[in-house]
Amino acid sequence: MAKSTQQRRLEGRVAVITGSSSGIGQAVAIEMAREGAAVVINYHSSKDGALETLKAVKEAKGRGIMVQADVSREKDVLKLVAKAVSTYGRLDIMVCNTGIQLDAPFLEMDTDKWNGVIATNLTGQFLCAREAGRQFLKQEKATGERYIGNIICMSSVHDVIPWAGHVNYAASKGGVLMFMKSIAQELAPQGIRVNAISPGAIRTPINRQVWSDPDKYKELLKLVPYRRIGEPQDIGKAAVWLASDDSDYVVGETLYIDGGMTLYPEFADNG
Ligand code: BGC
Repeated sequence: MAKSTQQRRLEGRVAVITGSSSGIGQAVAIEMAREGAAVVINYHSSKDGALETLKAVKEAKGRGIMVQADVSREKDVLKLVAKAVSTYGRLDIMVCNTGIQLDAPFLEMDTDKWNGVIATNLTGQFLCAREAGRQFLKQEKATGERYIGNIICMSSVHDVIPWAGHVNYAASKGGVLMFMKSIAQELAPQGIRVNAISPGAIRTPINRQVWSDPDKYKELLKLVPYRRIGEPQDIGKAAVWLASDDSDYVVGETLYIDGGMTLYPEFADNG
């Protein structure tokens, strides 16, 4: 059957994707729009990036708006969800995606770097998931929907792989893992599904200094049994599946999308 005549998997749903002005969030917004969701493109400082996402959403025959908000600030998150609801009448999917790295050797790490990463990567997910959950419980189910709401937490392989020189980031993602599971347990009886995606090395601005340098890229591929870097679409397509009824019985899971990075590749011919 031609794609255009198939039922799109997120038709009639409204999704907020935080940090969708670049990288993984941008791909998630585009893929969700392609599958029929109206998307709320959130950005912190890159309006141009958000405009680029919106353009791609429109090219995919999707609907979207842009909303500036800093996910670590409670009042911004309230505004973000309120804007989604005032524009599209409801909210069905919250993708807590925004994430930053502020790297430093541990003994040189200052409280700005520590607090900055925890505030955005962990508190940001708390605020976005909580506001989405509150909204889900206020509204009627969308037609044909089995769940009343869906939350996807963007984590990282570093929720299980320790990462020297990035301890604030690894600690934030380790926190996301247990945050996700605990709220999944708490909200599932109310029909809200919560899951996480843990990407490995994906070609985005966050790790440009690795994939744009041929030597570093070669070293990186030693950590990836599948021997390629991930593309943002690899994550976008998985997020569509997790947000759709195709994954209806998946609750409190973390999907590692990493080309095998979490398989201890160093042990393939060693140990
Ligand atoms: C980080 C990237 C890194 C990848 C694999 C991600 O969570 O943000 O910088 O390349 O993990 O190590």
